Parts: sequence; structure tokens; C-alpha cells
Amino acid sequence: AIKIGVLALQGDVAEHIHAFEDAITESGLFKDYNVFALKKAEEIPSCDAIAIPGGESTTISRLIDKNHMREEFESFSGGIFATCAGMVLCAGSVDDDRLKPLSLIDIKVGRNAFGRQKDSFEAEIEIKGYKEPYRAIFIRAPVVESAGAGVEILAEIDQGIVAVRSGKHMAISFHPELTGDFRLHIDFIKNLKLTEE
Ligand code: GLN
Repeated sequence: AIKIGVLALQGDVAEHIHAFEDAITESGLFKDYNVFALKKAEEIPSCDAIAIPGGESTTISRLIDKNHMREEFESFSGGIFATCAGMVLCAGSVDDDRLKPLSLIDIKVGRNAFGRQKDSFEAEIEIKGYKEPYRAIFIRAPVVESAGAGVEILAEIDQGIVAVRSGKHMAISFHPELTGDFRLHIDFIKNLKLTEE
């Protein structure tokens, strides 16, 4: 079985739970799964993976500390699937001192990198290794401004890097939980290298 916690402090939690359930079913990789709304620090260590959803990164950062989750994240050995605000939270550094990122991925992230006019937009983007383009929904999205040597760049558009992989972790500027295209979810799950027991 696979156990995935969706960090449920703020943001689009239900969409992530449904997307992972659908992705696991579609992949056929696991018969049994537990995808749940993660609310307590004690629940972190037993997860194979944790999704950090989109939302408001300054708020989620504050709630991570309020709920004493920072240390659990720093010592977590599973994979992190971070989207949008989640990407901001995973970074090594962010262009905004109002939040303290978790330093899980060696990237420097700019918040709200697309400016006001382009608050939200959709684009067909290319993702490394994918034959078909991916319809990406950007909502006040961040970009990766620079990435360390161990970080693999999965997608880059004119404005910057929008998807990366680092070890078991993935960080994505856009919202793969909203499109019904589970290629990124399935690759993330495969890369955890779990065996069905
Ligand atoms: N701009 C938001 C932030 O940095 C992220 C937006 C989102 O997650 N859709 O918190």
C-alpha cells in the first residue's frame, strides 16, 4: 500500500486528495492506498509522500510552525509533491522575508512571478521526456529563479523554470491536480520506488 498525506492547513486540499486517488487507480501501481488530509505533525513520519498544495504560502508557513511541523518536515525521508504555494514552501530561499521556507529542495523561488496582468493563465507546455504537451494552469504562480546542481529541470517557459525534480521530491509552479492529466503524479509515485506489500 502507499500512504500519501496532503498537507491540510490551508489551500486546495480536496483536489489533491482526489487527484492522487485517481492517479494511483489510473497507474495500476497499487491496489491499496491511503490518501488523507494531513493535519498533525505526528502523522508526517509514517507517510510515503506528502503533497503540499497551492494556497497562500505565507499563511501555510505560519501554520506549519504553529502546528510544530517544521522539524518533522526537515527529517522527513519520503517524497514531497509541491505545487504552487507548495513550491515556495519547499525552496531553499524565497524573495519574501515574510515566510521561512523548509529548504527541502535546493532552489531559489520568486513568488507571484507572473505579475498582475497574468494573475492566472493556461498554457500548453513541454515537459522533459513527455511526447504530448501538458496543459498547465498557473494561478499567481511562482517560478524557480535558480536551481542547485542536484536539481533536474523538468519544464521551463519564457518566464522561468516551472517544474523540477530533486531526489524523491517534485516542485511544480502550476496545478496538476486541476486538469485530470496525471502524468506528473504517476512519475512522482514511480520515483518513490516503493514496492506493493
Ligand atoms: N502566490 C501564492 C503564494 O505564493 C501561491 C498561489 C497558489 O498557490 N495558487 O502563496
